[in-house]
Amino acid sequence: MATFRAFRVEKTEDRQFPRRIVERDTADLPAGDLLIEVAYSSLNYKDALSATGNPGVTRSFPHTPGIDAAGTVLESASDAFAPGDAVIASGYDLGMNTPGGFGQRIRVPAGWAVPMPAGLDARTSMILGTAGFTAALSVHKLEEAGMRPDGGPVLVTGATGGVGSVAVKLLARLGYEVHAVTGKPSQHDFLRGLGAREVLSREDAGKGAERPLLKPRWGGVIDTVGGPILFNAVKALRYGASAAACGLVASPEIPATVFPFILRHVNLLGIDSVELPLAQKAATWERLAGPWRLDGLDELAVPLTLETLSDAIDRILAGGMVGRGLVDLNG
Ligand code: NDP
Repeated sequence: MATFRAFRVEKTEDRQFPRRIVERDTADLPAGDLLIEVAYSSLNYKDALSATGNPGVTRSFPHTPGIDAAGTVLESASDAFAPGDAVIASGYDLGMNTPGGFGQRIRVPAGWAVPMPAGLDARTSMILGTAGFTAALSVHKLEEAGMRPDGGPVLVTGATGGVGSVAVKLLARLGYEVHAVTGKPSQHDFLRGLGAREVLSREDAGKGAERPLLKPRWGGVIDTVGGPILFNAVKALRYGASAAACGLVASPEIPATVFPFILRHVNLLGIDSVELPLAQKAATWERLAGPWRLDGLDELAVPLTLETLSDAIDRILAGGMVGRGLVDLNG
């Protein structure tokens, strides 16, 4: 098959970004060590930014987004992989200015791919995708900083979203008491089903923004939204505890003072899934495939095809996604 189907975003002279499904030629893919037949991809918030022309994500159009891809190696110029190998490719420039997983084929450097770990397959790895990976990376970094299940409840913000929903499920599976913040009153039962002990509204999470410190409450925080909700959470960390900042759906800004840091000895940890060294990526996927393996991932999956992606992109941008968009490239 020399041609394949791909979701493509174009850029018009008046800066519109129309989306359509096109037939592409494999020969038109960029140079790279691995040609991969993509079975599944996933929809992340960043893909929606790419698809709407956010210049911090994608500058070169026409473009096929998709920061995640799982599939099978068709051709390899690398000793590390052979045709037929199952792989996950994610992050680095995939889906940013390199054609991504919303196409049935990608060509990438071998350094962007990890072998599919035993215990995961293309479908389950993409229900997790970069969002689930980021949740796991956050838990790992928080635990390295001392977070433990007996250290107090852990707050997860943006809890019904991709990173948030996997974070709630993973933390509950690891024995943490999880408190989830959501803007969706209709999804409290969904969050309790994932393992949240308590569910807070965004309004509750934003209360006390004018105060320098709040009552110590959290043994850890995974924040996907930024802005006042993130700093409120930092102000309510228990002595010496940490918050992981992964996202910015509410705001990239933090209305901060130094008080929690110098009076409560707390930490604000940065999380980046994109440029993380490949060995750490592989270790995180191994953790998700083994000791941190999550049962019942299907309850998080929102099945998508190339045809239904466009609507889902609008939904995730509007903050309306619940769970993880799973893109079946052959669906
Ligand atoms: P989703 O859209 O799936 O989830 C975001 C959730 O945040 C929404 O579902 C909603 O949940 C909540 N939300 C949306 N808008 C607002 C708002 N204005 N104020 C407060 N909460 C809001 O996105 P992802 O989970 O894929 O990504 C979340 C964030 O993490 C993004 O900013 C993304 O770029 C970032 N990210 C960062 C990574 C990294 O490497 N650092 C990797 C992956 C993602 P609810 O209704 O339940 O409140």
